[in-house]
Amino acid sequence: MDFNLDKLLNFPNATVESCSIVDDINYFQIRWLNEKIQCPICGETITKIHQERQSLIRDLSVFGREVYLKIPHRQFFCHSCQHYVYDFSGTVQLDFIDWRRRQTSRYQEYISAS
Ligand SMILES: [Zn+2]
Repeated sequence: MDFNLDKLLNFPNATVESCSIVDDINYFQIRWLNEKIQCPICGETITKIHQERQSLIRDLSVFGREVYLKIPHRQFFCHSCQHYVYDFSGTVQLDFIDWRRRQTSRYQEYISAS
């Protein structure tokens, strides 16, 4: 979307596609720019997305409003070894998002420091 917004987001391979404000909360729709991943089982490059879900992840507030990121959680299908592979599982885990707690690592650091 906006180059400066992507810089503020500061996630690798991600862009802010749109933003909206609902009930005084900022929602940012994120889109991943990498359209393929490497299969953690057989090492093949996978381009076929089987399904995509949306995760709502809490991030740091900006300009006095809470921020939630709508982040796609993709499931790929590897034709080579016939396995389904999640975008962020096992070896392709992202260190800037805690999926279990549904928040970014920087938000987690902020609340544990205050
Ligand atoms: Zn595979």
